[in-house]
Amino acid sequence: MSDLEDHFLGTNAGAEAYRTATERAREAAIDATDTDDPFSGAEPDAIRAALPDDVLPESGIGLDAAIDEVATDVLAETVNVSHPRTAAHLHCPPTVSGLAAETMLSATNQSLDSYDQSGAATVVEERLLTALGDLFGLGDGSDGVVTSGGTQSNFQALLLARDRYCEERLDHDAQAAGLPPEADDLRIVCSAEAHFTAEQSAHHLGLGHDAVVTVGTDAEHRMDVDELDATLDGLDEAGKEVFAVVGTAGTTDFGAIDPLDRLAERARTHDAWFHVDAAFGGALALTDDADRLAGVERADSVSVDFHKLFFQPISCGALILDEREAFGYAARNDDYLNPADSALPNLVSKSTQTTRRFDALKPYLAFRALGREGIAEAVETVCTTANRAATLLDSSHDFALLAEPSLNTVLFRYEPRELADDDLDALNTAAREALFRDGRAVVARTEVDGVEALKLTLMNPLTTLDDVADILDALRDVAEDVDVGSLTARNA
Ligand SMILES: *Cc1c(COP(=O)(O)O)cnc(C)c1O
Repeated sequence: MSDLEDHFLGTNAGAEAYRTATERAREAAIDATDTDDPFSGAEPDAIRAALPDDVLPESGIGLDAAIDEVATDVLAETVNVSHPRTAAHLHCPPTVSGLAAETMLSATNQSLDSYDQSGAATVVEERLLTALGDLFGLGDGSDGVVTSGGTQSNFQALLLARDRYCEERLDHDAQAAGLPPEADDLRIVCSAEAHFTAEQSAHHLGLGHDAVVTVGTDAEHRMDVDELDATLDGLDEAGKEVFAVVGTAGTTDFGAIDPLDRLAERARTHDAWFHVDAAFGGALALTDDADRLAGVERADSVSVDFHKLFFQPISCGALILDEREAFGYAARNDDYLNPADSALPNLVSKSTQTTRRFDALKPYLAFRALGREGIAEAVETVCTTANRAATLLDSSHDFALLAEPSLNTVLFRYEPRELADDDLDALNTAAREALFRDGRAVVARTEVDGVEALKLTLMNPLTTLDDVADILDALRDVAEDVDVGSLTARNA
């Protein structure tokens, strides 16, 4: 690094260097999101071979050259998430407002752990979470914290749930003393379609994933409440301690929304914390279909992901609590950061992170710039496209629709002719892999009732029904080259 002034903001030279570099970087990003196909199809080995061997040269190559190198070796081989035929995961094209917010929050580099590293950024995060508490009807006592996403939100919710249960029901201070003597009996109840992070959290909480008891689902993949009742009664009789009931508002594959109202009732009767994992479906609260989330207002905690159906750049999520005091179960004070006698809002006491990005600015700017209506339009558009895609699949002669969409996912299967189930599984697996290598479209896979299924997650409001038709044509095209006979022989 020769001229330090060119590498830091705060001087005219630094400002000029920042303008030049960000303009170059911005053009590279625009090129990478304006491609004919969503992916180049590059194999990992080819990408490894193309990257420079020397990640840390003795002398650098200079910023212009390094940006250009990243543009050709890296960005050109990434998955273009803004392409209309990228339709695999809950992975959104970011809004321009989110990208503008990223520019501001990264250049100013605030850290939300303490007020003396963030000033107004702390207040904006507080405001955003108050607005979110209102959106979900959680009431005046609610509070929240911005997280890296649903994984962190779900973990923290279950941590607080466990520790509240330990204190209130087992007279045990888990923060100080760790797991209680009854730890083997602690249980979390969720549906069989709940996100895997319920089990992951149970592991991280020292309970092991066997502490998660799953309840079967109805024909629409929502938690079956009769089975929930039987499960809770059985656990009570067996002397188990159910400290949390988790409802899912938008399961990853089907987008199914559990009957939250009735789950809330059961959780209350059994003195369990009611957590709603609305990482996927929380954005419905902005739309005319908000009543599908009825019952969320009775939750003790709600997880929301802004980097899914709120269309914000990764990473950006939130955990909202019904009662702000519950953050106290995991709060700590440290002399250097948030002394107990400080009158300032030091958000580190609400987070499982210390240094933390000002990600709140992304939804805040989107809310202010687009308003509820603007974001709702994007959510409603992707859901409508999913419904129309389902109709298209259902009326085709060679695809089978496996479920009616609930949100913006569509589950289907390629069935071009009479084939044994195993052959169809093998054909669908191979066709999806071939499509990814081909690069014309990106779709996902999962299993539905034990069979291999393909999945479209329509996250791009600019994806049209013609684009969906093009995705299906590309699938047909690559599937033609799959030799089903040899696949079955390989599987046998
Ligand atoms: C995406 C998702 C998660 C995980 O969230 P991340 O943001 O990926 O950490 C958890 N639960 C549900 C229902 C999800 O859709």
